[in-house]
Amino acid sequence: MTTSYLLLGSNLGDRAAHLAQARYDLATTAGRVAAASALYETAAWGLEDQPAFLNQVLAVETTLDAPTLLAACLAAEQQQGRERQVRWGARTLDVDILLFGQEIMATPTLTVPHPALPTRRFALVPLAELAPQLVHPQLHHTIAELLAACPDPLEVKQL
Ligand code: ADP
Ligand code: MG
Repeated sequence: MTTSYLLLGSNLGDRAAHLAQARYDLATTAGRVAAASALYETAAWGLEDQPAFLNQVLAVETTLDAPTLLAACLAAEQQQGRERQVRWGARTLDVDILLFGQEIMATPTLTVPHPALPTRRFALVPLAELAPQLVHPQLHHTIAELLAACPDPLEVKQL
């Protein structure tokens, strides 16, 4: 059994409903949702001319391996009618694997820990709510320390 931290994001349509449906779908396909952070709102990152994101982190206890868990995450996105268009563009649902236990892997389709985690406040803030003392397996700092050092200027507002 592995505890994996997933980042949910939505900035199109009924954002909170997309996150709720994702929690439901992932509980069926990925594993038990042991904890869920509050919802946080952040201005869109990358392409700024688009609606703000709602984000949430889930702690999922899974018996899947990481590539199979990624497949479940991508299936949850498809379930919400996500169409891949512009990189960083608006989306009904994005599900990223932030951490998969203490595993480290880099393949063409899956990099874990998520390489952008240390530079994105909208991922670190909800993750720090659930697991501030968790140690990043590559950086050997806690999530709370990574958040304190994060240079991202975007404000992350708890709803
Ligand atoms: P982003 O999440 O960066 O906005 P996408 O959601 O469009 O981009 O993801 C594109 C691809 O990124 C996925 O199809 C997946 O193969 C790959 N990927 C690599 N590492 C991860 C990860 N840790 N979590 C989720 N997707 C990942
Ligand atoms: Mg993604």
